[in-house]
Amino acid sequence: MTTLDAALARVSQLVATLPAQPFVNGAFQATMHGDALDNVSPRDGTLVNRIARCNAADVDNAVANAKATFDDGAWRRMAPRDRKRLMLHFASMIEARAEDFALLESIDTGKPISATRAFDVPQAINTLRYYAEAIDKVYGEVGPSPSSRLSYAVHEPLGVIGVIVPWNFPLHLAMWKIAPALATGNTMVVKPSELTSLTALKLAQTAIEAGLPAGVLNVVTGLGHEAGDAVARHMDVQLIAFTGSERTGRQLLRAAADSNLKRVSFELGGKSPHLVFADWQDLDTVATQAAWGIFYNQGQICTAGSRLLVERPVMDTMLERVVAVARTIIPSDPMDEATSLGALSSKGHLEAVMAQVERARADGLRIVCGGQVARAETGGYYMLPTVIADVPPDHPLAQDEIFGPVLCVTSFETDDEALTIANGTRYGLAAGLWTASMNRAHRFADALVAGMVWVNGWDSCDITMPFGGFRQSGFGRDRSIHALEKYCDIKSVSYTFG
Ligand code: NAD
Repeated sequence: MTTLDAALARVSQLVATLPAQPFVNGAFQATMHGDALDNVSPRDGTLVNRIARCNAADVDNAVANAKATFDDGAWRRMAPRDRKRLMLHFASMIEARAEDFALLESIDTGKPISATRAFDVPQAINTLRYYAEAIDKVYGEVGPSPSSRLSYAVHEPLGVIGVIVPWNFPLHLAMWKIAPALATGNTMVVKPSELTSLTALKLAQTAIEAGLPAGVLNVVTGLGHEAGDAVARHMDVQLIAFTGSERTGRQLLRAAADSNLKRVSFELGGKSPHLVFADWQDLDTVATQAAWGIFYNQGQICTAGSRLLVERPVMDTMLERVVAVARTIIPSDPMDEATSLGALSSKGHLEAVMAQVERARADGLRIVCGGQVARAETGGYYMLPTVIADVPPDHPLAQDEIFGPVLCVTSFETDDEALTIANGTRYGLAAGLWTASMNRAHRFADALVAGMVWVNGWDSCDITMPFGGFRQSGFGRDRSIHALEKYCDIKSVSYTFG
């Protein structure tokens, strides 16, 4: 048996343990109606398994269990050190099954197995440990009161959290929300993308085996406008922690307004500028980071450096080197250990990305490399890394998120022009620049409208730093100690003494 055959055989064994049912109150439970959805792999378009198509009644059942668990206090009133111990044990159990999580994530998303092994799964474990470790180290505050009074402020969990996440980093992004929500004593209903539900179900199963109380971490699968909408409109859900598209974000705001005025936190899209100034000498390093800054995860990253803005004198050299790197990145089978670029998430998404490329072609833009689907004979959803040069800053390709392996390159002449182009979209998620000038770096770090700015290195932050956007890229922050705040209310308590 080859390594690939062994991996596929293991996937079959694993999905057989994940029935087409939601995971509620510590176990898989039949849906109210038995409806299910086909789950196909982007790798070859074949059926992996079926997942439950949960409806409002299923969501109601999950929320009721999460609420009962919150109300009984078994989780939120647990001593912080004990909650920490359980979460650390949970992390160790995921680690012990890391290969299984990586296999499920790759077959479901089309991501290279090398990436799910090296990034998605270890990062999820790291996130869980980070927030577990924080539990008994974050303090409340005592107010400056007169001596006849003692006033203090405590953070209290909100209750039932609705976690709604997309398909590009299913486990990793879900954990950015699950871990701080758990750490602060909340219970939750997680709604993964209908395209990628496997690792969320496996996670909920593992949580029970790790000893988390039943009903703390529940998972409902199904469609956004059915299961997702029911979570968003539920009167007993106190917060929707969401990562996904702007379109869905707008629907969630309406659902919150129409129901219980629940809170929402949004990590939405981006069109992040990656600026290269002529004073930076090492253009090879920039070319590699610029290419991987857009092509990693098949370009399906909200923080992708999708707009490469290059100072005129180094434009030709930069373009040549980025294209040279792009040509070395060959789409291949995600389950093959040697693959660095896998499949796009779905047939529909591949078609949407290719439609943008065709638009560029029709508008006469210069497609320097790629611009084609690949490996169509496999039945999977692959495309070549694509570089489009001289894209006018106001062209839709430079304005709208493509969410695929498509890099738009534009030149600029002056710092002012660079800043105007960089800030000239409706987004404000991330931005990066390469310059030898500390003065310029500082000026741009201040003036760029972005939740994250990276100087002389793309995507150089980790769990310790806040993650989130300005403008229509969203509001609220994942990662860092700040993420704990959105899962809590603050209560002020005051004692007056005789
Ligand atoms: P999406 O908005 O279509 O779906 C995200 C989730 O929302 C899925 O679970 C989906 O089922 C659910 N959903 C859809 N409609 C819903 C509704 N009416 N009510 C409730 N839930 C609903 O996004 P996607 O296509 O899965 O993911 C791609 C998008 O996510 C891109 O726009 C990308 O930029 C964004 N994203 C942002 C970040 C970030 O951190 N800023 C990270 C990753 C992805």
